[in-house]
Amino acid sequence: MTETIFSKIIRKEIPADIVYEDDLVLAFRDVNPQAPVHILIIPKRPIVSIAEVTPADTELLGYLLLTVARVAAQEGLEEGYRIVINTGKDGGQTVFHLHLHLLGQRMMTWPPG
Ligand code: AMP
Repeated sequence: MTETIFSKIIRKEIPADIVYEDDLVLAFRDVNPQAPVHILIIPKRPIVSIAEVTPADTELLGYLLLTVARVAAQEGLEEGYRIVINTGKDGGQTVFHLHLHLLGQRMMTWPPG
């Protein structure tokens, strides 16, 4: 996989507003927030997108969702939130390192844009 800006954030080569980190995952605030709370949760292992995952990633994918719930609780999102995983060109993905968007503290609309 080619290097992305998120690899540099993982290596702390560029700054980010990190809200959670452990050996497997990193969570940091989106630089262009689409909601009062907008956090990206990424695996440290470089995975391009959901379209590229393999059975070897099963546990990590579950752990990413657990991390979303942990960060949402940390952010006080008791009223709910939305998780978005843009995948590929038509999915609106612009950074090709798997990331889950956690959006909250406002009412979400449906259908999404
Ligand atoms: P996506 O369009 O789903 O690939 O989302 C990529 C997200 O990364 C966008 O919401 C960007 O605002 C966000 N982003 C890009 N560069 C940075 C950065 N250096 N720090 C934080 N968020 C970023």
